[in-house]
Amino acid sequence: MKKRIQNIAVMTSGGDAPGMNAAIRAVVRSGVYYNKDVFGIYRGYEGLIEGDMERYSARMVSNIINRGGTILKTARSEEFRTVEGRKKAYENLVKNNIDALVVIGGDGSFRGMKVFAEEFDFPVIGIPATIDNDISGTDYTIGFDTAANTAMDAIDKIRDTASSHNRLFFIEVMGRDAGFLATYAGLAGGAEDILIPEKDRGIDSLVNSLRRSKRSGKTSSMVVVAEGEKSGKNVFEIARYVEENLKEYEVRVVIIGHIQRGGCPSVFDRVLASRLGIKAVEALLDGQYNMVTGFKSNHVIVYPLEQAITDQKGVSQELIRIIPILTT
Ligand code: ADP
Repeated sequence: MKKRIQNIAVMTSGGDAPGMNAAIRAVVRSGVYYNKDVFGIYRGYEGLIEGDMERYSARMVSNIINRGGTILKTARSEEFRTVEGRKKAYENLVKNNIDALVVIGGDGSFRGMKVFAEEFDFPVIGIPATIDNDISGTDYTIGFDTAANTAMDAIDKIRDTASSHNRLFFIEVMGRDAGFLATYAGLAGGAEDILIPEKDRGIDSLVNSLRRSKRSGKTSSMVVVAEGEKSGKNVFEIARYVEENLKEYEVRVVIIGHIQRGGCPSVFDRVLASRLGIKAVEALLDGQYNMVTGFKSNHVIVYPLEQAITDQKGVSQELIRIIPILTT
């Protein structure tokens, strides 16, 4: 049922991603634009349980569109996984006369939001923000583009040293369930091979392909490895296996790590976050609850929360197919 919405709360939750600030700014400013009161909740569900929130004016989100991280902080909350924790969260929303909740986060945050919305029949909407780009229903999530560029920059730098010393580098990038970061950064950085969760490449076929490359005249190579790739080995074990079976190369391992989460958001992420933030507020005011905003085929869309957390999303077959062509 459509209810009159006057007070909207916004939070960032789960893993941080560049562009979250731009999304907060868009939610606050569109709320103010439509004469609503917007409250910022600190530290995700943890802050909601503690009632850690304040009213945000349009000016309080000045000078943040360019900043990485999140001014509202983010957290993971074990207590929110319990009914008692969620009840405290609900009571704080009621106490502060909040009518709807906007959650900027990844699929874990959305799962929590769905449980909460169903339990208390509370209007919610999600804005997908994760560097992994692993949320179904949207082509891109906020933070992915920036993180992919950061990983690509790192790969470019490693290439310089790899080619100077004739070395083979294994470069681990984030991505436990989906290989978008590895695929985009690896393709853009000219990696020799890319190992992702979507496809079990087979470690011996990797060794054979690296051997063929060596024989064809390549003196250095880079293999990009997503955290969640399917060989069952970690990046150090993969590197050791390859080194033992391919004596011609001197092998090194680099884990890019948390650098991928930081930094100023790209143009793409700032504009995406701004558009999805506004759409979230407009959808709520239009009575569309338990939904997620997204970007599909160049359009801003609103779709069911259920779809965002149940459908599987992975790197397309087209991208997987072109990797070996480019490294011939
Ligand atoms: P992300 O949003 O980046 O995927 P997490 O997976 O850590 O991050 O989820 C963020 C938070 O969402 C968790 O710490 C927890 O409080 C809440 N959450 C996740 N799944 C559930 C669930 N099934 N029920 C209740 N809360 C959940």
